[in-house]
Amino acid sequence: MAVKTDLNMDGVQAVLRKRAGELEKEFLSRLQQYRIDLVKAREQIMFLEKGCDAAQSAMERARSYVPVIAREYECPNCFVRMGLSGKLFESPEGPSANAMTCRKCGTRFHVETDE
Ligand SMILES: [Zn+2]
Repeated sequence: MAVKTDLNMDGVQAVLRKRAGELEKEFLSRLQQYRIDLVKAREQIMFLEKGCDAAQSAMERARSYVPVIAREYECPNCFVRMGLSGKLFESPEGPSANAMTCRKCGTRFHVETDE
């Protein structure tokens, strides 16, 4: 469309520039919000990648778990969750008999008896 000459050209240009200025502010605001969201998304991705790595390592430890090492029972929770050795000891006689307890994490494992 050709520029109309019967309108005040300065007035038209001022209206158009004003609208462009509004759009600039709108998109600047949008750009700032996208940058904030992008930083959050990158942090979330890093968190998920660390979670995947940790889960993969724990799964592999669970797969390689051996219940007895050097004639002592090993706690699967300590080994799988933390990669640490937790020795189990037999609970004394009483209501908690037939149980093994971890010295490190305190988890108790009840053992079924044949009686
Ligand atoms: Zn343990």
